[in-house]
Amino acid sequence: MRGRDAWGGGAAPATPPKPVTLDARLAALRTRGAIKDFAEEVDRDEALRAALLALVAARGIDVEPDIGGKRLVRAALARAGDAQVRKNPIHRDEAFTCAHCGAAVAPGGAPVRDHCPICLRGRHVDDMVPGDRAAGCGAVLDPIAFERRPEIVIRYQCRQCAHTFVVRAHPDDRVPPSLDPRDVQGPA
Ligand SMILES: [Zn+2]
Ligand SMILES: [Zn+2]
Repeated sequence: MRGRDAWGGGAAPATPPKPVTLDARLAALRTRGAIKDFAEEVDRDEALRAALLALVAARGIDVEPDIGGKRLVRAALARAGDAQVRKNPIHRDEAFTCAHCGAAVAPGGAPVRDHCPICLRGRHVDDMVPGDRAAGCGAVLDPIAFERRPEIVIRYQCRQCAHTFVVRAHPDDRVPPSLDPRDVQGPA
């Protein structure tokens, strides 16, 4: 059974012995071969694997708990910029005053609230990923179509920049039975 020293020691540098940190070991992985060897070590060594998972989590990188050593090492090696790129939605559920009809809207719970349940308008605040708040636009999103997939989804278009995207309708939404966006409640 290998303990913590198994990866704390390793190939000793010529400099005086001092604990080799995980960061230092990652920084030393400059070739594919070195990455592969380290990944195999991660797969064999539970303590090393746990330490690497903790490091990755501390950097805000999402990985599956059963991720393989090679992918885990690659996640840990991702540059800071890469690590910021998320693909999964960010859970945000906030009360807001509707910018279109003025309704005071409570958080939606699960699923989250991302548009007004009355006039069905939203605001263009997200860019690539739901919840990222990276759009820098802020204009009103109009519902331009409803579709059954089979659950109802709302297709949105931004008034300002013509950005379009689709979200699931919320159970509280007053979706017009006609599924015609002209029948949505509230001001035009
Ligand atoms: Zn509204
Ligand atoms: Zn926009």
